[in-house]
Amino acid sequence: MDLGLAGRRCIVTGASRGIGRAVAHGLAAEGARVLFVGRTEAALRDAARDVPAAEFLVADVTEPDAGARIVAAAVERFGGIDVLVNNAGTSRATPIDQLTDADWDEQWQLNVRGPERLMGAAAPLMAAAGWGRIVNVASSSGKRPSGRNAAYSVTKSAQLALSRAYADAYAARGVLVNAVAPGPVGTGLWLDPGGILDQEAAAKGIDREAALAAAGARVPRGKLGEPAEIADAVVFLCSERAANVVGAAWSVDGGAVPSFI
Ligand code: NDP
Repeated sequence: MDLGLAGRRCIVTGASRGIGRAVAHGLAAEGARVLFVGRTEAALRDAARDVPAAEFLVADVTEPDAGARIVAAAVERFGGIDVLVNNAGTSRATPIDQLTDADWDEQWQLNVRGPERLMGAAAPLMAAAGWGRIVNVASSSGKRPSGRNAAYSVTKSAQLALSRAYADAYAARGVLVNAVAPGPVGTGLWLDPGGILDQEAAAKGIDREAALAAAGARVPRGKLGEPAEIADAVVFLCSERAANVVGAAWSVDGGAVPSFI
């Protein structure tokens, strides 16, 4: 299937590792030009190395001017913007009664205000050109709140609502906005030292291997997803072939959310 992505000009936030890196590589493999965005220059350099026509930009998406700055960089380097993937994000296990104002504010900025500012800067340019694709990487926790971090879950729900609001506002102008909701995925967020796996192991008094088996057992498919499995769905939604998909929130979660929507 030709996805029609050759030459498309793309922004991927959180592209230095994990799901974002897989998305950026997936888009580039289709012939797209990709601006890799993240906060760490060395990691971005590494991720973009050997990727044809790749650029990178160091930016924190929670900064008030980040949306405008990132989109301006894509326009300057590529001459325009066709695709935006809002993927940057993180979470750590924190009981609801231990979440601070700073925790809530951080997740709100990461999952709602940052993506909103990026869409607010990119969507009008896409609409003026008559074609665009935006994909918001939310979470299964936005559909079924997880007890791991309520601030993360609540703001991921808000991200799904935000995605739908932009879809409704821009669909008639050729800019199609959708979301994906991954379940647990084997990225650094889970597997790095001190990541969710270690946090769950410590909380339950078990070793990493047992914690990984327990996490897999909570998913009907029986294991964590792979970054490339999420990226495949995102890349499709960025493509010409997704022409009739608007305002969707696709679960890509191994069956984790026990619902058919
Ligand atoms: P990783 O921790 O592997 O990667 C996160 C990426 O986001 C890195 O590139 C990181 O780079 C970047 N990033 C983090 N904060 C910022 C920021 N403020 N500004 C710019 N870039 C930032 O995470 P995943 O790949 O696992 O997660 C990617 C997305 O998928 C997130 O939105 C997450 O919520 C979502 N998701 C992940 C799931 C999972 O189980 N892994 C499940 C469901 C959803 P740097 O730190 O250098 O800035």
